[in-house]
Amino acid sequence: MKFGKRVLVTGGAGFLGSHLCERLLGLGHQVICVDNFFTGQRRNIKHLLANPDFEVIRHDVTFPLYIEVDQIYNLACPASPIHYQHDPVQTTKTSVHGAINMLGLAKRLKCKIFQASTSEVYGDPEIHPQVESYWGRVNPIGLRSCYDEGKRCAETLFFDYHRQHATAIKVARIFNTYGPRMYVNDGRVVSNFVVQALRGEDITLYGDGAQTRSFCYVDDLIEGIIGLMETADDITGPVNLGNPVEFTIRELAEQVVELTGARSKLVFAPLPSDDPRQRKPDISLATRLLDWEPKVQLREGLQRTIAHFRGILDEQ
Ligand code: NAD
Ligand code: UDP
Ligand code: UDP
Repeated sequence: MKFGKRVLVTGGAGFLGSHLCERLLGLGHQVICVDNFFTGQRRNIKHLLANPDFEVIRHDVTFPLYIEVDQIYNLACPASPIHYQHDPVQTTKTSVHGAINMLGLAKRLKCKIFQASTSEVYGDPEIHPQVESYWGRVNPIGLRSCYDEGKRCAETLFFDYHRQHATAIKVARIFNTYGPRMYVNDGRVVSNFVVQALRGEDITLYGDGAQTRSFCYVDDLIEGIIGLMETADDITGPVNLGNPVEFTIRELAEQVVELTGARSKLVFAPLPSDDPRQRKPDISLATRLLDWEPKVQLREGLQRTIAHFRGILDEQ
């Protein structure tokens, strides 16, 4: 007799999804990972394949999916700018059609559904730190819009299914998260800097490096995601999940150089369009609702991430 729930994780072979699958299995649930392997990798979930409670379905969430589950975590969507800008139309489809299909599934099954939204819904913000009540400043027609507006429309769909069909929704706005299982070619800043440092290459700061981000270690984030899913049904979010300790990109580069012992130089490259100047979550709502706050400091998280990339680069 199984006491765990049957939990669907879309995007389960990705960076965050694979950590979530692993944690849910550890809690005694049966996990169905749905992924089209656009950015997801088999190696992320290889260690879970022998577990009889784990199942993988290759499927694109822009198409309908008929299965029977008790809970849905919707994470499917490329998250790195180079990946989501590779096929921007597919990115919008993944967020919008993917949300419609997963919400249709949740509506039929009358089950709870979690949405991995993003700090990008705030765009280049005028309010700092960002609170959930801030509506954001997003360019609707720029290179980042497929991601930002796709995620904003997905939030709209979640709240309309909730109002119109009483679907139980949990929407998290996730801020920059890093850790083991990020890809060497991911293109986001932590993996770029660590890989460049370990290879002894120059570290590429886009713009002047004075823009800020707040980096959350993956284990802390997964705890927040599961905590939100387990809140009472009247809690819908959106709830910010992230680490509120803010660093400039230059400070991040300096820490990576110090921790890797690399001799890399910092070099400057053009700032991508619509790159937000500053980003830092106000997490007071998450702290109040979930009794949650990140525990892993950047230094410690970077050390674990550097160890992960050392292993990958050694294999190569
Ligand atoms: P990732 O690229 O590693 O994972 C995304 C996964 O979704 C991959 O396995 C990919 O193959 C899969 N996928 C993409 N399109 C799909 C489709 N149409 N059908 C089925 N599967 C599809 O990215 P990640 O960092 O793990 O991000 C996971 C989620 O969290 C995303 O929704 C992302 O927007 C959100 N998020 C992440 C961060 C972060 O810092 N990592 C920040 C904010 C939001
Ligand atoms: N859907 C799905 N799995 C289900 C139920 C629905 O993929 O178990 C899809 C369905 O294809 C539809 C979408 O979810 O396109 C939205 O479903 P909903 O019931 O809200 O809308 P309708 O079917 O009435 O258009
Ligand atoms: N960035 C950088 N060098 C890199 C990659 C990114 O300076 O090699 C900068 C980027 O311009 C942005 C910040 O780091 O200001 C975070 O970028 P990332 O793509 O990781 O995430 P996002 O912009 O979506 O927060």
